[in-house]
Formats: sequence, structure tokens, C-alpha cells
Amino acid sequence: MVPVKVELVNSELFLTWNDNKVSSIKLVNLRNLCPCAVCIKEHEEQGEGYIPLYSKDQLTIIEIVPSGNYALNITWKDGHNIGFYEFNYLREISNTIKEK
Ligand SMILES: [Zn+2]
Repeated sequence: MVPVKVELVNSELFLTWNDNKVSSIKLVNLRNLCPCAVCIKEHEEQGEGYIPLYSKDQLTIIEIVPSGNYALNITWKDGHNIGFYEFNYLREISNTIKEK
């Protein structure tokens, strides 16, 4: 599955997929589910009930760049830019909201 359109609306990311489905994920969840090694380690260290409190910068996306044809690399305003969100992962963590 490949996203054909990526749109930021307020504090949510909307993805249109090549099967014509549209899904969305709130930025707070997107940040919380960042797949990079640093964030995964942080979650491991903090344990299961960990709910991070984010600053506004940590929840603001300044750039989304496709990485090859398998992932999106997201740069957050606090400088965090090592998260590569694979398309399958994005599809999994976002909620399908409609057939287009
Ligand atoms: Zn991360």
C-alpha cells in the first residue's frame, strides 16, 4: 500500500492511499509511535503506562519527505528527524476514515 497524497490539517495527518482509502492519525499519536531507535528505547525504559507530554514544537511537523518508495521521513520542529515511518506501519497506526 502506498500513500498517493499526504495532507496536514490542523493537528492531524491525512493519508490517501492507492486503494482509494483515506486514513488519518493525530500528530500526538504519530509522534508517540515514532519508530526510531531513540523513541523505541525511551518507551522501553519508561514502561507500558508511559504517556509522554509533548511541547508544541514536538507536535509540529515542518517537513515530510518520502524515503525511497517504502517510507516517509518526518521532521518535527524540535529537530527530531530520524523517524522513518514505513507505509505499512502508517497504514496500521492510522484510522481508516473513508473510501474515497
Ligand atoms: Zn523518534
